[in-house]
Amino acid sequence: MTQTTTSATSADDGGGPAPPASPSTAPPSTAPPAARYDAVIRAAVGQGLLGESGPVAGFIDTEGVRASVGSLFDAFAATPGVLHTFAAKACSLVPVLRLLADCRMGCEVASPGELRLALEAGFPASRIVLDSPAKTREEIRLALALGVAVNADSLDELRRIDALRNPGTASVLGLRVNPQVGGGSIGPMSTATDTSKFGVALRDPGAREAIVAAFRDRPWLTRLHAHVGSQGCPLELIAAGVARTHELAEEINATLGVRQITSLDIGGGLPVNFADETVHPTYADYVAALAAAAPGLFSGRYALVTEFGRSLLAKNGFIGARVEYTKDAGGRRIALTHAGAQTATRTVLMPGAWPLRIGAFGPDGAPKDGPVVAQDIAGPCCFAGDVVAYGNELPELAEDDLVVLYDTGAYYFSTPWAYNSLPRPAVYGFRLVAGQDEDPGHEGAVMFATVRDAQSMDAIAAESGLAHVDALIERGD
Ligand SMILES: *Cc1c(COP(=O)(O)O)cnc(C)c1O
Repeated sequence: MTQTTTSATSADDGGGPAPPASPSTAPPSTAPPAARYDAVIRAAVGQGLLGESGPVAGFIDTEGVRASVGSLFDAFAATPGVLHTFAAKACSLVPVLRLLADCRMGCEVASPGELRLALEAGFPASRIVLDSPAKTREEIRLALALGVAVNADSLDELRRIDALRNPGTASVLGLRVNPQVGGGSIGPMSTATDTSKFGVALRDPGAREAIVAAFRDRPWLTRLHAHVGSQGCPLELIAAGVARTHELAEEINATLGVRQITSLDIGGGLPVNFADETVHPTYADYVAALAAAAPGLFSGRYALVTEFGRSLLAKNGFIGARVEYTKDAGGRRIALTHAGAQTATRTVLMPGAWPLRIGAFGPDGAPKDGPVVAQDIAGPCCFAGDVVAYGNELPELAEDDLVVLYDTGAYYFSTPWAYNSLPRPAVYGFRLVAGQDEDPGHEGAVMFATVRDAQSMDAIAAESGLAHVDALIERGD
């Protein structure tokens, strides 16, 4: 891993005035930005990682990720035999997955690509879990050959596994249920509604009996899985879904007269607070909610698997982007930046559901101050809705300034959208290292490591069919 170091002055000159409360038309997300990363932003500019030659990049706080994993492990410390997997889709970058493997996590994957990344990152097959609602026979065959755990999403998929399974497989096999406890505040993120596409709908007529029979017919089926939803689902809803799943396991084992179900995969989905810097709810809050809703869950009778994504990474990353131009239109101030739908896809497409805190920095990476102005923070994509925040109250932005989109460590720069053939932005990990005693003006240094290079023009051409350039030209006969 190549690393570069730059010294950073202390951040005590940063911050500027706190933006006033957001107007009612703006998302409720303009709490004062995080001074905690000011030194990193300044160092990124100093290193040339952000600026004219790097107009947009993602940044990951390596030590922050380790600390978040630590708080997850701590919350479950009283329960032996928990496998904490990271939901790969939340930050599908091999060095990030390797970091999480190094933190003794497992990995939850939901596609052949994610499985490949998890293996490349060094997760042992025994710590990988494959969930997906549309696994092909080929994917199932590969997972079983590798010994990766598989959660079937339907009874039909179980029938495929019947046909493909070698009795010697090391794979732990489970069934995903939809406890149908209802949705959260973001419809597309709610997987436990009555009509969700995921799992076997537990409360539908005849479903319980069919699930019990499926386990009776398959002594090798030893796990139940549920993932109630992601962002927007309150803890009580998630806990209720886990409680229904635990009850079902007890019922199946009692009916079969044998402890066939030995583990419960309780999914992920701890919501992240995007409104300010505080982390809440915490993993400890989550464990408390589970203990209240499903007291038997921590009895030790079931090994547990978790699948957290967003809550481990979101607050440990941010996007930095250059302001290329500003303009006024119809009485609105607009900053045209390089952070748009290609890297903040959900926020641009559903701004009300996914508001982000935004910070304003000068060309040198120092926090801007001065009177605030309501500004639209627009991106580079060629559609009118490519705006990451409307009417955001920030110090007035100008050409060559920078904006920072906080809490974007999960599902943002790691899941880019290829719109307009914009390149996937570079991603850097960073670490703050303690300062030298003899250098009191400097708080420490920032070390960067490249996680992903910005996509090259050659790579964009290649993925756009360059190898088949003549494929559609009539050749004549
Ligand atoms: C997306 C997903 C997760 C992770 O959800 P987060 O909200 O990122 O914690 C876990 N399990 C399954 C099955 C998922 O689809």
